[in-house]
Amino acid sequence: MSAVPSPIGRPRPVPDIVTELPGPRARAQIAFDENWTSPSLPRAYPIVPVRGEGLAIEDIDGNLFLDFAAGIAVTSTGHSHPAIVSRIQEQAEDLLHFSASDFYLPIYAELCEELDRIAPLGGRARSFLGNSGTEAVEAAIKMARFATGRPYIVAFLGAFHGRTYGSVSLTASKAKYHAGFGPLLPGVYHAPYGRVEDLRWFDDVLFERLAPADEVAAIIVEPIQGEGGYVVPEDGFLEGLREIATRHGIVLIADEIQSGAGRTGKMWAVEHWGVEPDVILTAKGIASGLPLGAVIARAELMEAWGPGAHGSTFGGNPLACAAALETIALLEGGLIDNAAERGHQALAGLARLRAHHPGMITDVRGKGLMIGIEFDTPERAEAVQWAAFQRGLLVLECGRKAVRLSPALTASADEVDTALGLLDAAVEAATAGGDAA
Ligand code: PLP
Repeated sequence: MSAVPSPIGRPRPVPDIVTELPGPRARAQIAFDENWTSPSLPRAYPIVPVRGEGLAIEDIDGNLFLDFAAGIAVTSTGHSHPAIVSRIQEQAEDLLHFSASDFYLPIYAELCEELDRIAPLGGRARSFLGNSGTEAVEAAIKMARFATGRPYIVAFLGAFHGRTYGSVSLTASKAKYHAGFGPLLPGVYHAPYGRVEDLRWFDDVLFERLAPADEVAAIIVEPIQGEGGYVVPEDGFLEGLREIATRHGIVLIADEIQSGAGRTGKMWAVEHWGVEPDVILTAKGIASGLPLGAVIARAELMEAWGPGAHGSTFGGNPLACAAALETIALLEGGLIDNAAERGHQALAGLARLRAHHPGMITDVRGKGLMIGIEFDTPERAEAVQWAAFQRGLLVLECGRKAVRLSPALTASADEVDTALGLLDAAVEAATAGGDAA
């Protein structure tokens, strides 16, 4: 198995596991954590990170992991990329906060102009900046209703859009996200996702039986579903949605919070199908780990509302804007191309892995470095995630029985090969009955 030199401390291979997992300090920290933090946090497995560089993560016991989860697809430029860190440091010395809601913060407008330049909306864009993905979704729902004067929103089965009330109402990946929280936002319908023939649902079911087309404000879609299982739609599906939205004056919102910012080997996943939405939502990878979410909208939509309709004290914080400007420069400076190349390498390797474990791996799919591996059962996916962790590889489950690979877009060919080798061993272990959890 290949290894990569560790940039952390003395030269070490990555991964390099030196204690049992979780180690003694990790176990103590978990016990401490469980006294004080909200039990709602859905912890996947017991890693306790303290330092990161590139794709290497050091835990509290000095173990080194190879990170193919990237903080849920967030650290797009790797952990603590030096250019991002120094840009944040420079900005921190100048100004930490001033609130762009009430005043004219230059770096906020500078980032909005950049977002206009990189967003394929077929015309000028204006942007609203918040602190997270879910805030971007909330802002988009409000804006679409305001701009159209229409009440209904269509999302998709399998979708994940966040956990605040509006976005969790759009979410339909797992019933547990709704359990105990009803009633949710009214006026939301869920359509089947992904197949071209499913588009008939709009005419045959929605517009015919549920809501007139001229009362639908927006269709919000993940161009590739994320938490729902890294599901890639059929060619023609997004194009079909664009056609339906255009025909009825409905706002087409692409939630690129997980699929955007270069992850799929293009700046935005919609570009794989040449579709121009009316709104793009971004968060996660756009600021390399600083909290930022953006609604990038066709200017005429954003110009429908006026002062006071929406705002945020912290949204578009100068540090987050600085990190985003540097992230975009790094993405365009080669990371998007790298994501495409490493994605081809990973998919080819996973096809071999699938052939090596017939029946257990039932599908491999994705674009760029947004890759889903589907297993035969939920238990198998869980066991593979655990066995990978035990071997020093961080991956994350998604959907019902899939594991996702979403490493930093800086991943090297060696790192991808190392991850494939570790995954092979993890699937082997999960087949043999698994490592004890
Ligand atoms: N939309 C998508 C597609 C996501 O994947 C997520 C988070 O996983 C969100 C929205 C919500 O983002 P956040 O957790 O930053 O609120």
